[in-house]
This record gives sequence, C-alpha cells and structure tokens, in this order.
Amino acid sequence: MQWAAAHREPVGVQSTGHGADLPMEGGLLLTTGRMQELEVDPRHRVARIGAGVRWRRVIDEVAPHGLAVLNGSASDAGAVGYTLGGGLPVLGRVFGFAADHLRGLDVVTPDGRLRHVDARHEPELFALLRGGKGNLGVVTSMTLGLVRLEQLYGGGIFYPGRDALEVLSAFSRWAPGLPESASTSVALRWMPHDPIVPEQLNHQLLVHLRFCWVGGAAEGAAALEPMREVSRPLLDAVGPMDYRDIDRVHMDATRPGLYVLTGEFLRDFDAAAVAALLQRAGPGSGCPLPEVGIRLMGGAFARSDGMADAVSGRDAAFFLEMIGWLAPHVAAATPPALAEILRAMAPWSTGRAFVNMHGVPGGETEHARAWSEDVYARLVKAKALYDPDNLLRFQHVVGQGG
Ligand SMILES: Cc1cc2nc3c(=O)[nH]c(=O)nc-3n(C[C@H](O)[C@H](O)[C@H](O)COP(=O)(O)OP(=O)(O)OC[C@H]3O[C@@H](n4cnc5c(N)ncnc54)[C@H](O)[C@@H]3O)c2cc1C
Repeated sequence: MQWAAAHREPVGVQSTGHGADLPMEGGLLLTTGRMQELEVDPRHRVARIGAGVRWRRVIDEVAPHGLAVLNGSASDAGAVGYTLGGGLPVLGRVFGFAADHLRGLDVVTPDGRLRHVDARHEPELFALLRGGKGNLGVVTSMTLGLVRLEQLYGGGIFYPGRDALEVLSAFSRWAPGLPESASTSVALRWMPHDPIVPEQLNHQLLVHLRFCWVGGAAEGAAALEPMREVSRPLLDAVGPMDYRDIDRVHMDATRPGLYVLTGEFLRDFDAAAVAALLQRAGPGSGCPLPEVGIRLMGGAFARSDGMADAVSGRDAAFFLEMIGWLAPHVAAATPPALAEILRAMAPWSTGRAFVNMHGVPGGETEHARAWSEDVYARLVKAKALYDPDNLLRFQHVVGQGG
C-alpha cells in the first residue's frame, strides 16, 4: 500500500474471488489468500481471523467447542470480505448481521499505515468498516465474537416448480409470523442438467424452501409444519443438524463462478408481490436466472448493539436476492432479466440494496443505494479523508468514483 500510495497506483483486493463482480484493468491486485492466521479462544468466545481465511475453516475449528460463526449461504466465501459487507447470515434472525459481532480490525489505510480500530480506537473508521466494505482500507485480520449453538434443526425442502404459486403464497403468509428462533428463505431455482444433482431434481424449475431453527427438533418441526402441508415435496431434507453441515441449507455453488449476485430489501412480500414475482420468474416465464429468492429479515437483524455501523437492511421485512449467469451463452440476457424483476418489485422495495449482494450496480446513484443517506454521506466523507486519490477503486466504490 505504501508503494501504491507513493506511485498513485490503484489497488484491488481479492481473497477468494467470490465477489469479483467488476473487471480490473491496470493497478495492483493484492491477494490475501496466504494470510491464513486463525486463533480461536473458546473461553472468551472470540476468534482472530486472517484476511485469507474462508468460513469453512473457522466453522470446523469452532464447532467442537459448541460455537458457531455467522457465515452466509456458502462457507467457501472469505470471512473478512463477507463481514466487511455486513454479512447477512443464514441464522441472522437469531444472531443479527455478522458485522454486529466484530470486535476489532487491523487495517492498512491507503496512506500505507497499519491501524488497529475498534469501539475505542478510531471508532468512526471502525463503524464505517462494519458494512462499508473495502472502501477505506485493506483489512489484514479481524477479531470476531463467536456464538453459542447447542441445537439446530434445519435443511431444505424442494417442491415441484408447478406448485410455485401455492408454495410462495403460503410462505408469504407463514414467514412473517415465525418466532425469532426461525430463519427462512424460499427460492425459485432452475436446476441444471448435471449428474451431481439427484435424479428427481435434475433439469427443471424447483421451489426451494430453506429453514433453520435454533433449538430443539420438536419445536422446529412444529414451526415448519404448515409448509410441509402445502404441496408434495420432491425432497424433504430438514432435520436435526450439525452446524458444520450448514451449506446443506442453501445448497449454493461452492466455487467462484461466472455469475452476479444482486438484490433489494423489501418492506413486504404479500399476495400481490408473489404474483408480480411469479410473472417474471415463475413457471413459463422464460426467466434466464438460475435463482430468484426471498429471505425473511426481522428478528435480530432489526437490532443494532447501539454502536454506529454501516449495515443496511435493519428496517426490512424481506430481502429479494437473485443470481444471474454471466457465461457467454446467457450473459446478454442476464442484466435485462435482473432489471425487469427489480422494476416489478419496486412497489415493495425499501429503496435500499445490500453491498455484499449488489453486483454490477452501475454509477454512483446506484452504489449509494447500498446504504442509508446518512451512512452514505459519512462514507463519502471518510473516503475523501482516508483515500483522497481513490486508490481502492476496483469495487463497490463510494463517492465520485462510483
Ligand atoms: C455462492 C455465494 C453465496 C453468498 N451468500 C451470501 C450470504 O448469504 N450473505 C452475504 O452477506 N453475502 C453472501 N455472498 C456475497 C459475499 O459475501 C461477497 O461476495 C463477499 O464479497 C465475498 O468475499 P470474498 O472475500 O470471498 O470475495 P473476494 O472476491 O475475494 O472479495 C470481494 C471484495 O471484498 C472486499 N474485500 C475482500 N477482502 C478484503 C480485505 N482484506 N480488505 C478489504 N476489503 C476486502 C473487496 O471489496 C473485494 O473486492 C455470497 C456470495 C456467493 C458467491
């Protein structure tokens, strides 16, 4: 960073490549993959995690102590990159955003200085790094609180695509009434023709319900029961589970690929929203996107610990998330399909996006939607202070470079 600052050379940062949405031309690419520091202190429920560590390693390391981290739907993602973007976890309704559990960061700011920031040291920089992503520095390691997790009941249910209206309508009525112990989402998924996909799920549109209950199996099953009665599932894989198997809940792609992830927070997901979504992404719509989903927000997502942060979505009831392929044969169809669904869902939108899932968003006005107006103004001010030459520009950048 000191060399880059002296030469005014722009800098990109990459850990796993899972969030490599924007092309980079010129400049210096810092890869953090070899920064594999991982120290776990189970007694104080805290871990120090290097910039190159993926969630999978941390999950496996802390699980024997009855502890867990707040990773998202794919444990192959980098722990630091994900957490800097707020981190919307599978168990977020119980434990909140991953960034809520950050205790401190070691960060190299674009002037080449290594700083330790936390609630007492440079609190504004710390606050803005919790959800502001990589705009203000390159993080070398983070100190993260771990959560106690004794029992978990969860997994996924696949329904046939032809029952999409029944399943999504039932979800829209059932999900808002769930207690905080339950986290859930539902997605329309076009399953590829692939020998690794079980026979009964191969090459068709499916509806995938994901469900996690932090607590006993009997209570979890009772909460899920209404959704089990909606339609005849092709596969019901919900049961008592070990947190090490958390990837089975979303069954996401496990390796970085040629796709874009984007979305929008919603105030509501009512019957009219179900109809609007199905018209664009349901059976017979010809939608080219492999996945269009709705996650339930609320619960602990809505609470902050009283410390300022840069996480968005606390006021949302749901999150609309979409994946689009960028492989050559579908690349041209993907952006218009994403834009059409966002337009159709605009009446239910809070107007805010989530920086971790806001791929290829265009110019500054669009970038700014990943934060509240107040947070965005603070991020722009801090960017001018810490990165006046916009060295960290190959990403979801704030300010004039956006
Ligand atoms: C299959 C899949 C599922 C996902 N599910 C979720 C989910 O459930 N919830 C959620 O919140 N997100 C989710 N994401 C999004 C994911 O959190 C982002 O893509 C995140 O940026 C991945 O971080 P990375 O370090 O692995 O990626 P990289 O591509 O290596 O980095 C992406 C960006 O992160 C920033 N960054 C990374 N490391 C550093 C660092 N050391 N210092 C400063 N900035 C850094 C930079 O801006 C960089 O451009 C998912 C992504 C995928 C591909």
